[in-house]
Amino acid sequence: MTDGPLIDIRGVRHAYRTAGGPLPVLDGLDVAVADGGFTAVVGPSGCGKSTLTRLVAGLLIPDAGEVRVHGQPVTGPRSNVGMAFQNPVLLEWRTILDNVLLPLEIVRTGMTKAEGTDRARALLALVGLEGFEDKRPSELSGGMRQRASLCRALIHRPEVLILDEPFGALDAFTREDLWQIMHRVKEREPFTGVLITHDLRESIFLADRVVVLSGRPARTQYVLDVPDTGPRDLDHLYTPEAAEMLAVLRRQIEIAQGRAPAEEHAAAAAPEPVPGPPAPGRQGAVTGAVP
Ligand code: ADP
Ligand code: MG
Repeated sequence: MTDGPLIDIRGVRHAYRTAGGPLPVLDGLDVAVADGGFTAVVGPSGCGKSTLTRLVAGLLIPDAGEVRVHGQPVTGPRSNVGMAFQNPVLLEWRTILDNVLLPLEIVRTGMTKAEGTDRARALLALVGLEGFEDKRPSELSGGMRQRASLCRALIHRPEVLILDEPFGALDAFTREDLWQIMHRVKEREPFTGVLITHDLRESIFLADRVVVLSGRPARTQYVLDVPDTGPRDLDHLYTPEAAEMLAVLRRQIEIAQGRAPAEEHAAAAAPEPVPGPPAPGRQGAVTGAVP
């Protein structure tokens, strides 16, 4: 155990080896996520956000700097990390329930088939997919498939959940539904999360902290702490406080893309990579545990 952040990325540099020589992607990445926290990462397309997720998952080892989880350097893939992506890859010949159970067949963690099935059913109910357990993926809408893929990512009770633009391919209304479902999931499941997103509203609705990355090679440019305002619904996004946070983030993205004047760049770029205390649950009392 450590007193520091659960996920601690410090001074990370990474270049991909390509036929044309090294392609520097990250150069000075600092991201700290408190135990139980949920950090959103935003930044221009191609700046290295998915690369960051691979580093946390242990699928890539940085050229320099450190990636630690629980104070331990990440040296390879682990079963305590769950991941979900923009395009959920569900196996068409398996039912939704069996898709959610798939990780149990790949990595054994001591969860029996019966325990896993109970947990999968409870997770599917939590995301509103009760009654769809025996359907095939093609019988579900895009939003429903994404919900099933979220359940699959959670089946092992991962300590770390990584969501790489999970709602990016959905229409605006479905996306907002998923945000609310995600809040429900966050109340009941004790993961520490990293959410990659293009959507600034999504970042302040779901996360307790938003990290803005600069353009490539990316470094941490700005960190916004989202105040805990207690129970929230979508109306929260239309408050003056939300408008102000969105304006700050938009400005920082413009700077990241090199669209803001240099003198403002110097004044506005104020990274603050030091982690705060663990974020408290945002929606009050938690009831109805998932097994
Ligand atoms: P983002 O998720 O922010 O859009 P990525 O982390 O996917 O960005 O990629 C950052 C940059 O690294 C992009 O220019 C991408 O083309 C390049 N890249 C990603 N993966 C590889 C790889 N395996 N080999 C070479 N280049 C890569
Ligand atoms: Mg990406």
